Amino acid sequence: MHKKLFIPGPTEVAPDVLQKMATPMIGHRSKDASALQREISEKMRKVFHTTNPILLSTSSGSGLMEGSIRSLTAKRAVVFSVGAFGNRWFKMAEANNVSADKVESEWGKPTTPEMVDKALATGKYDVFTVTHNETSTGIMNPVEEIAEVRKKYPEVLWLVDSVSSMAGAKIEVDKLGIDVCITSTQKALALPPGMAICSVTPRALEHGKQVKHRGWYLDILEIYKYIETKDYQYSATPSLSHMFALNYQLDRILAEGLENRYARHKAMAEYTRAWAKNNFALYPEEKYASVTLTTITNTRNISVKALNDGLAKVGMQISNGYGDLKEKTFRIAHMGELTMTDVKEVIAAIEKILPTLG
Ligand SMILES: *Cc1c(COP(=O)(O)O)cnc(C)c1O
Repeated sequence: MHKKLFIPGPTEVAPDVLQKMATPMIGHRSKDASALQREISEKMRKVFHTTNPILLSTSSGSGLMEGSIRSLTAKRAVVFSVGAFGNRWFKMAEANNVSADKVESEWGKPTTPEMVDKALATGKYDVFTVTHNETSTGIMNPVEEIAEVRKKYPEVLWLVDSVSSMAGAKIEVDKLGIDVCITSTQKALALPPGMAICSVTPRALEHGKQVKHRGWYLDILEIYKYIETKDYQYSATPSLSHMFALNYQLDRILAEGLENRYARHKAMAEYTRAWAKNNFALYPEEKYASVTLTTITNTRNISVKALNDGLAKVGMQISNGYGDLKEKTFRIAHMGELTMTDVKEVIAAIEKILPTLG
């Protein structure tokens, strides 16, 4: 039996979108491949609220996180972390010999504009990274406020991990002034895992020229070169299957309407949060709670594993806490294809199981 996924990736994929993955192959150096990538980019720019170039990467979101911090940091990066995925970005910098510092918030708390201001004021950095939506703690960072203080440091590049929020929450890339905004297919975009997508500003591409060892496969400049000089192609052989499905899914997303999509996510989040507060407690500071997933503190000391085993029997799955937060928290994702009906269904199922857990 298929378990309906209330986990923060991979998420549910609509049957017709899944079907598009089975489209017969075309040559990746063909005019058809160029047309496919150009169409995806045009539609994706709407989702990102940007006029910047869109890059595709046949990797998961982590690929572009690693590629961007490596190929764009000429001096030193500062990584703002509010949980597991911020920490991952810092590890990537270290593993690639990129000079970097980490500014970590207490878990459950956001990256504040004051923290960003203080770090950038040192003049030590040419790059800073922020996690828009931290999937471990369920924090959604205040990027509008961060964008305000960042105006004082226009020369510093801003990289954003929006892997678990893009297409579920409004992120106005151009208005905010984000240089590289990263997402991947298997979260709020609701496609199978295997592709990452980012926007990149021309000035970031220019800045990267100062970096000598940018790698190759995930080098942002190399990926862009094939768009510019080879008419929207990809440096190696891309996952064309994902591209067929992505192009189709973007039509579905735009047909729903971005504002409707954001409102749907917000409504699901509010419902889940209200239930969580009545029955357990919210893990993140409420003001910064995510709209794509809810991280709940296990105040009743239930076995999250047993809860999930119970849900499996009725064809559903939620997430245990991430890493050290396992059993201490659990997570209900409400993103991508899921609707309020689904969320009500999973909450009702949880309420039925809870009394049996002792
Ligand atoms: C899932 C996730 C990632 C990692 O993305 P992959 O596509 O699994 O590589 C990074 N950051 C956040 C916030 C995520 O939720």
